[in-house]
Parts: sequence; C-alpha cells; structure tokens
Amino acid sequence: MMLKRRLGRTNFETSVLGFGGIAIQYQPWEEAVAAVKRAIELGVNLIDSARGYGDSEDKIGEAIKGQRENLFISTKSHYPTGEEVRRSIDESLAHLGVDRIDLIFMHAVDQEQEFERRLRNGVLDAMRDARRAGKVNYIGISGHQNRVLAKAIRTGEFDVLMAMYNLADDDAQEELFPLASSMDVGITVMKPLGGGYLGILPEVAQFGVAEKAISTADEALRFVLSNQYINTSVVGMGSIAEVEQDIPLGLSPQEMPPEELARLKERARVSGYTFCRGCGYCLPVCEQEIDIREVFRLFVFHEQYGLKELAKERFQKYHEGKVAMCTECLNCTERCPAALDIPSLLKQAASILGSNR
Ligand code: SF4
Ligand code: SF4
Repeated sequence: MMLKRRLGRTNFETSVLGFGGIAIQYQPWEEAVAAVKRAIELGVNLIDSARGYGDSEDKIGEAIKGQRENLFISTKSHYPTGEEVRRSIDESLAHLGVDRIDLIFMHAVDQEQEFERRLRNGVLDAMRDARRAGKVNYIGISGHQNRVLAKAIRTGEFDVLMAMYNLADDDAQEELFPLASSMDVGITVMKPLGGGYLGILPEVAQFGVAEKAISTADEALRFVLSNQYINTSVVGMGSIAEVEQDIPLGLSPQEMPPEELARLKERARVSGYTFCRGCGYCLPVCEQEIDIREVFRLFVFHEQYGLKELAKERFQKYHEGKVAMCTECLNCTERCPAALDIPSLLKQAASILGSNR
C-alpha cells in the first residue's frame, strides 16, 4: 500500500509520491494516459499538472475518467493578471474534464517583486473568486526561492506550497518547512530527482560528465521521502516503465541512516552540483536573450529522457542562432546559484544538439 500523509490544512491524505504531469506532454497520447492510470493503480492519488504543460491536462483528464472522486487533482496557473488566471482556471477545468480542481497553484513565483506584481494584478483575488464559486478547493504557491515562498505563506492565504527539495538543494528544511508546518500549510516538493539529474546513472550524467552523477533515483527519492515535513514528492514520470521504477519507493517507510545520508552528501559535494536547477535567475541578465534554462532542459531531454530528435529539433529551431551569439560576458554566471560555467555549457549543448551534428 502506498504510504499517505496529511496534506496540511486540506486534510486530504495524499500519497507520499505524486504524479508530476510535466513529462507526459512530450509522450504519445496512449503511453501518457497509460502511465497516469498505472500510477493510480499503484496507489498514487495526487496528480499534478499545469496550464503551461502542453496537453498534459487533457491526458490526465482522460486517465482519471471514472475515478476522479478518489483523487487529489492539482494544477497551476502562471499568468500574471487576474483576468488571465480566471480564464486559465476555466480552461484547466475543461481540459481536465472535471467540475472542480482540488488545488490551484500560483505557478513559479520566483522573485518577491513578481509575487507583489501578481497580487497587485489581482491573481490571488481571481483564485479566491474561483474558490468561492466552487471551481477550486484550495490555493497554493510554487516556486524555486525559499525566501519568496516563506514570504507568501506568511500572508496566510496559501494552503499548500510546492518547493524544490532534493539531495543537492535541501535548504528548504531549515526555515521554510518548519514555518509551513507551524501554519499547517501542506508541503509538496518538486524536482526530488533534481529535475532528472540526481536519479541518473553515471554514464548519462548531464553534459556527459560521468563522474558528476550524484546518486541513483532510488537514493535520491529515499532521501526526499525520509524527510517527515514533506507530505508529497511530485515526481515527473512519462511512461509505465518510469512509474513502475519510482512508485515502489513510496510503498514502505523510508528512513535514511545518518551514515548513508552523510555518504550521499559527501558524494554530492565532491561531485559539484553541475546541473541547471531551472530557477531562471540567469534569464533577465542575458542581453542576447538566450533562453539558457530551456537550452539546458533540452539537453536533459536528449541525454536522459531519450527525446533526442525532439530536443535537437527545438534547439535548432528556437535556440541555436541565439546561443551562437553568446558574448561570454558572464553576467549570467554571477546570478547562477549552481555556479555553472554557463557559456561553456552552452557550447557543449550546441555541439550535441546543433545542426552541425
Ligand atoms: S555569458 Fe552568454 S549566456 Fe551568459 S549572459 Fe552573457 S551572453 Fe548571455
Ligand atoms: S543556469 Fe543557473 S541561473 Fe540559469 S536557470 Fe539554471 S541554475 Fe538557474
């Protein structure tokens, strides 16, 4: 039986592993629907998506037909104005094929100014209106910056948060999780596998640097599950094979002995955290307007998800020209919390995904 934990003040008992709907947008319809169904069969009851994840909501809608009542469905709206959020909630309802969403997240709020801007623009008001109208039950916030998330939940407006937490990024447990827990805010985490980098085998590590691989998926997930603050870890899964690999870890209590934890942390430290966390801090400072985060994401698609053609096609169509214009000004590296050598990594990505290959 899948373990469950109470999701804060929602009082819903959610499975410790949730289905993250980001990857299925890239999978064929049948395979994607089958993956969601298989996860539900294995005991997953929290399914998460976002308006911005292509046709993920449609595929989830198909998979949950006839069993919606036993599930906790969350989705996200990244739009910056109340009017757009109102529209996106209605669209999510239609795409998911449900008459109510359990939880709507204010999506990817990564800077304080951004949070304040969305409040000023009526985003929270729109979410509250949707709750009053019975379209959503709870309101949450997701982001990569613990400080911003802490500020947001101190308002008392948010029932659930979604933070980043994994072996390489575990700061959230210092202040954010205790704060959320004291306010009975449900805690979900994303990127328990570091967006795909932590759960990989050494031979397919990002940028082909074998010795940089930090852990296996098993170790990375056990690390996250052993944190008792966390109600649900949302894992992006795109196929039945991935579901069947990851879900069994949620079936038994996970404890990580201190020696094992110390060993993993040491390995992570020695390896260096040479992967993009997807925080986006580098984006505003690039005068060449290179979408650095997206380029690195495509690289992961190519190296780890087996989506080689899709990654190359998108890189060549949307990013190759811009990446070639990198002036090596290093503005981006100063902002990067992972201390990545971004210009070199862009060159590496271009050499693998570019049209000259
Ligand atoms: S080093 Fe390249 S990618 Fe980074 S900010 Fe400068 S131009 Fe943009
Ligand atoms: S390259 Fe660095 S700053 Fe840019 S999104 Fe990735 S981790 Fe964040």
